[in-house]
Amino acid sequence: MKNVFPSKHPLVVHKLSILRESKTDPQKFRELVREISALITYEATSDLLTTQRIIETPLSTCEGSELKANIGLVPILRAGLGMVEGVWELMPSAEVWHIGLYRDERTLQPVEYYNKLPIEPTVSVCLILDPMLATGGSAVATIEILKRWGVSRIKFVGIIASPEGINHLHELHPEVPIHLASIDDGLNDIGYILPGLGDAGDRQFGTG
Ligand code: URA
Repeated sequence: MKNVFPSKHPLVVHKLSILRESKTDPQKFRELVREISALITYEATSDLLTTQRIIETPLSTCEGSELKANIGLVPILRAGLGMVEGVWELMPSAEVWHIGLYRDERTLQPVEYYNKLPIEPTVSVCLILDPMLATGGSAVATIEILKRWGVSRIKFVGIIASPEGINHLHELHPEVPIHLASIDDGLNDIGYILPGLGDAGDRQFGTG
C-alpha cells in the first residue's frame, strides 16, 4: 500500500505481540505503548529537514545540525495520550496540542469535544498520535482540523490499523503518510480492529 509504513523492526514486532496479549496489565501496556510509539516515530521522522549550524565542542568548532521545522504532536484523546511521552522524549521542543474526539457508538462518527488550537498555526509539521486507526473517522477529522489551522505537513503515527481505516484516510488525504506497527485483518461489527488489542484507552487507563 502506498504511503503506508508498517514497521518490520524486530523490537517493534516483539513489543507489539506483548501489547496485544490480554494478560498484559495496564502498567506494562502503557510502557509498551510509550516504547513502540518512540520506535515508530524514529522511523516516521527520518525525512525531516535539518539546517546546519556551527557548534563548539570542548576542543574545536564543527558543523552541526538542528531540526528545521517546528513540530507539533497531536494526540487524539484519550488513547493517543499514552503515545506522547515516548515521542516527546525524542523531540522535547515539540509543542503538544490535544484534540478530543469520541466515537458516537451508534453512527461510529467522530464528535469533537476538545480543541484549544490558537487561531494562527504555531507549528509546520504535525504528528497525529492515535494507537488505533480503526474506521479512520477520528484521524480524518483531525487531519481536517489541522489543515484548516494551516499546517502543511501532517503525518499519522499509530500502532495498529485496519485496511478500512487506511483506505478511508487515503481516499481523502492521500499525501498523509501512515506509520504503524501493524496492519491487521479488519473491523468487527462494532468498529474494533481484529485481532487488534481491544480498547487501547481502557487498557492504558485500567477502565476496561
Ligand atoms: N479503538 C480501540 O481502542 N480499539 C479498536 O480496536 C478500535 C478503536
